[in-house]
Amino acid sequence: MPIRYLVIQAFALSVPVLSLLAQSHDGSIASAADRVAPRMIEYRHTIHRHPELGNREFKTSQLVAEHLKRLGLEVRTGIAHTGVVGLLKGKLPGPVVAVRADMDGLPVTEATDLPFRSTDKGTYQGREVGVAHACGHDLHVAIQLGVASVLSGMRDSLPGTVMFIFQPAEEGVPEGERGGAKMMVEEGVFSNPRPAAVLGMHVDGDPPDQEGDDERLGRASYTPGPAMASATSWKAVIKGRPAHASTPHLSVDPIVVASEVVLALQTIRSRNLDPRVPSVLTVGIIRGGTRHNIIPAEVELEGTIRTFDKAVQDTIETRMREIFDGITKSARATFSLEFNRSHPVTVNDSLLTARLAPTLERVVGKANVRQRPPITGAEDFSYFANEVPGFYFFLGAVPPGKKSGGHHTPTFYADDGAVPIGIRVMTGLVLDFLSAPRS
Ligand SMILES: [Zn+2]
Ligand SMILES: [Zn+2]
Repeated sequence: MPIRYLVIQAFALSVPVLSLLAQSHDGSIASAADRVAPRMIEYRHTIHRHPELGNREFKTSQLVAEHLKRLGLEVRTGIAHTGVVGLLKGKLPGPVVAVRADMDGLPVTEATDLPFRSTDKGTYQGREVGVAHACGHDLHVAIQLGVASVLSGMRDSLPGTVMFIFQPAEEGVPEGERGGAKMMVEEGVFSNPRPAAVLGMHVDGDPPDQEGDDERLGRASYTPGPAMASATSWKAVIKGRPAHASTPHLSVDPIVVASEVVLALQTIRSRNLDPRVPSVLTVGIIRGGTRHNIIPAEVELEGTIRTFDKAVQDTIETRMREIFDGITKSARATFSLEFNRSHPVTVNDSLLTARLAPTLERVVGKANVRQRPPITGAEDFSYFANEVPGFYFFLGAVPPGKKSGGHHTPTFYADDGAVPIGIRVMTGLVLDFLSAPRS
């Protein structure tokens, strides 16, 4: 740890200069944010009313591209299917910083009483489903469009370039398709120009819990270092021998074998891994059999693994394979097991975090900023933050007197009031990053 402390102290020297510069633009940012917010809230309502699933964000990306073009940005569309990137080049020399907003909705039927609630339908895994912005990505788009509006009004005094990334399919892609942040990176979104840092924000619309009231409108929270887990999905098939249920001695019963496997998997977390290091292994699907009096030929299992550390990930995968192997062998069954490492760990770069946390505190007030423990949810922002230093934080979006059912639920609620605050915070972060003294 000594190296990290040194870096933070070295940075602290430049903070007074930085905060003087920053405070001088805080007032103008706040009034500009308030000026553009009503239009952005209208955008938010439009997007919320017509949410689109991953890789199908056609109308949303069109709205985004049109707004960015009107502001005079260089706009690229069709990146990773529906992704949009706008480049705002300041008149003064300086670095490049990227900001990212995700655009997709979820296969959830909205059950709020919002006047702009969604009644739209979409197709998910071949079925017709309700579609809703049940994770608040509509706010992310509206806020980032607002940041683009405010900063484009400051172009003459802007030292550097801002890359506005509007990303499809954060929540995942339809089966058999590629997409999201990974695909944007593969398509070279960071190759020209290459940003020096990437910033991301998520609204927090969770119900109040014991951990803290981070969801309260205007609160900001972040986690230095590993902030969100990696996600690896896995699929297994246990093959036995089918028989009539009345003659189990003629079978190799995959249901019994799968049951043993599920219980044995619980010992990886409890017996094989250091209890001080967090991880999750969940079996989400166990599927087998067609009739009460038939022993089936096979059972399918699926689940997810969450970790903050590659070594832990490797241990879990190795132990899973050993457990599947040992138990199926002893029962004379066979198995297949596949892992799909879909999201890396989201890491907040320590230097960048130390550099930007004071901005958060200045803009929303020190008492409204909290460092929170890492969470076992995953974010594909990690693909961007694997390329260049990243900073990702949460912004509370539930005002007193309002209730949210939580992310991904039919009664998820996030308030319009997050729009002007989000614009102020993100614009402040971008300007402080670009204006900081450089070595
Ligand atoms: Zn989500
Ligand atoms: Zn989300």
